[in-house]
Amino acid sequence: MSAFYRKISPMTQFDLHTHSTASDGSLTPEALVSRAKQQGVTHLALTDHDGTEGIRQAMKEALSQDLVLIPGVEISVSWHGATVHIVGLQIDIDNAALQEGLSALRDYRRQRAIDIATRLEKAGISGAYEGASQYASETMMGRVHFARFLVEKGYAKDMKDVFKRFLVRNKPGYVSGNWASLEETVNWINAAGGQAVIAHPARYKMTATKRRKLVAEFKDLGGAGIEVASGSQHPEEVRTMARLATEFDLLASAGSDFHSPDNSYTELGKMTDLPPNVTPIWSTWVN
Ligand code: AMP
Ligand code: MN
Ligand code: MN
Ligand code: MN
Repeated sequence: MSAFYRKISPMTQFDLHTHSTASDGSLTPEALVSRAKQQGVTHLALTDHDGTEGIRQAMKEALSQDLVLIPGVEISVSWHGATVHIVGLQIDIDNAALQEGLSALRDYRRQRAIDIATRLEKAGISGAYEGASQYASETMMGRVHFARFLVEKGYAKDMKDVFKRFLVRNKPGYVSGNWASLEETVNWINAAGGQAVIAHPARYKMTATKRRKLVAEFKDLGGAGIEVASGSQHPEEVRTMARLATEFDLLASAGSDFHSPDNSYTELGKMTDLPPNVTPIWSTWVN
């Protein structure tokens, strides 16, 4: 890979999971890069949901700010009744197989948005599709866009409240996901020369046994890593995920999952450090 990575030194700060307005983040790709720079991030991956629309803009801004931008994506997966997120890092965004897969997921998102709006309509909330569209980019519609609309209209007080009351299982605006399979997702990322990483593994509401099964299957399919440090993972969870990484011989990734200055688990680059017993995914980037 690029000789640029030879520069890696103790002064580096990685953040390998972030969002922009190209999905459900609230900063443009350029503003995200600027904020990352201010926060001391030296290597930033933009990983928007099911699309890479923001990568070129981010890349351009990163060049001018002397920050390394890693092309990434966060793909929505349905696995044994659960929704799981797989991050792809170092992907070739011009890869046809990857882009076809992402395009199908965004088509599904549009259909799901219509279904969400229909359900909200039945619950007495009209105009949700148009309302959510106002907050969304042309290509990607997600629950966060509905959340912003519902908060703006006074149906809930904040992001946390609106998800709990409207947008999760058994609530009026919930539609169960029908996303990509784990196998095709890992294949798209690998076909695009990237590394597949299980995002925020502690956040899934599944038993430890089921999570181990996910990790084992992911590894067998050609997955490369797991987010040991994530903005939403507590130190104890970081240790658990570090053990999983070691056991399944997976590389360790670290990302904040930053979405917005006022709605994020943590600031850019400010998640827990990786413990010393894991192999950071970026160690494979030094040629
Ligand atoms: P979607 O992929 O459209 O179903 O939306 C998933 C996104 O919703 C996640 O990536 C988060 O950005 C956001 N999200 C999910 N649950 C919550 C929550 N409880 N509070 C705030 N944001 C959430
Ligand atoms: Mn999101
Ligand atoms: Mn996610
Ligand atoms: Mn994310």
